Amino acid sequence: MDEKVERRFVSLKIKWAFGTAVGSLIIFMVVVFALFTSFTQNLFRQERQLINEGMTNITRQLGTINQPLTRKNISHLIDPSNDGTQLISGEEYQRPVVKELSDGHLVVNVYNPDGKNILSTGHYIKAPRFSTARSIRVAEGPDHDVLVGQAPVYAQKSRQLIGYLQVENNLNSYNRSYHQLWLVCVLAMCLVIIASGLLGYFLSLFLLQPLDNIHDTVKEISKDPTKDVRVPVVNRNDELAELTTMFNDMLDRMQRYIDQQSQFVSDVSHELRTPVAIIQGHLDMLQRWGKDDPKVLDDSIKATLIEIKRMKNLVQEMLDLSRAEQVEINFRNQHTVVNDVVHQVFNNFKMLYPEFTFRLDDDLKEPITVDIYRDHLEQVLVILCDNAVKYSTEDRQEIHLILSRGMNTVEIGVQDFGEGISPENVKRVFDRFYRVDKARSRKKGGNGLGLSIAKRLIEGYHGSISLESSVGAGSLFRIVLPIADDPEEKITAK
Ligand code: ADP
Repeated sequence: MDEKVERRFVSLKIKWAFGTAVGSLIIFMVVVFALFTSFTQNLFRQERQLINEGMTNITRQLGTINQPLTRKNISHLIDPSNDGTQLISGEEYQRPVVKELSDGHLVVNVYNPDGKNILSTGHYIKAPRFSTARSIRVAEGPDHDVLVGQAPVYAQKSRQLIGYLQVENNLNSYNRSYHQLWLVCVLAMCLVIIASGLLGYFLSLFLLQPLDNIHDTVKEISKDPTKDVRVPVVNRNDELAELTTMFNDMLDRMQRYIDQQSQFVSDVSHELRTPVAIIQGHLDMLQRWGKDDPKVLDDSIKATLIEIKRMKNLVQEMLDLSRAEQVEINFRNQHTVVNDVVHQVFNNFKMLYPEFTFRLDDDLKEPITVDIYRDHLEQVLVILCDNAVKYSTEDRQEIHLILSRGMNTVEIGVQDFGEGISPENVKRVFDRFYRVDKARSRKKGGNGLGLSIAKRLIEGYHGSISLESSVGAGSLFRIVLPIADDPEEKITAK
């Protein structure tokens, strides 16, 4: 079943904003939880300390009574003016401590040794625990938990048990602070979600602008592939700005490639039109009159064969051209000794054209290896030497081959002293199907593809080819190729 699952479009900005909000919220929650816990624990510790200090203070004062506690003998502690001053020693006992303590959120209960309540400023919990161990614990209060401190009271002098003390803290201020803090945290969390979500959204709006531009451009191009649109370049220095530039470069390259392809098709059909027309002309003529006329028959067959040979050459050269564009992929790690190939081509041409004077200026002191497939170097040299022969004048039939070495390069020159090329044509001779004099070149069997094949081959091996020429004086083609890094590697066998 080939069922296409339709996915709902969710903008990257929304996802980014959502992600930022959730991320910030998680971080914020962790931080707030840590702060909240430490703050509330601290608050709780303070409340405990308050109860502890209160108990110490009161037990110390009650201990000064030095006899079992009764309602009567403790009354002066509630109000010092209540009784004589003989039991009050020291400045701190001059104050009504118990009353002061019970003013706030502490309630105090004092019991005699039998567990009878003799002083009470209130109650949060009912059942007191009478124990000789001092303790502070959390107990269930009427509305919420309360803190209960209990301690035995000993006579200061005799160290005898004279009563019990129970101090309760209703934790009201602790609870108030706890709830206020909780509210602040929840509000802050909401603020963080909204703020980080908005920040994420606007940040992504700004940062993803180039992506939006690319998206719009692709959409426009897919609607109309012939449209010459490019992504607007943003003035930034990040990956997306780089992507925009790369994307535009890619569109330019594609455009160039499409233009080249259509140009190539039109060039080829144009090149084929002439031989096809000539062949058709001769065949028409044969059909009408030539069948019985041996001379017409012979001429037409000869002319047709010449044109067919030309077409064959043209097809071969076009194939060479398209292969020359692939050398970088198909002919890696090929090594050739330049000296050998140049000497071989030189000797072949000397033999083929004895009427020409060939000279080889070889400045290389040792064999030099370059990364090029041997047949390709030979093909380029043959194209240049063929041209040199073709476009030499009868005044000076002389061709020089020059071999020299640069820093990391080797240079091969092919020089003739023929008709030369004008400066405006020098720029164009490497273009496909370009011929300075179309009719003359055609007569010499040229299709205007030789130099473009040579250029593509040499550039495919990271070299360069250039031309110096002047009309009437001749031309010098110069090839520069990088010397191979590792000449020890296997050399292409002939
Ligand atoms: P062709 O097959 O026509 O020679 P090329 O690509 O080899 O095609 O050369 C392109 C054109 O450059 C030629 O038609 C010719 O006009 C010019 N040309 C090439 N080499 C030379 C040269 N050595 N001297 C003068 N003109 C040349």
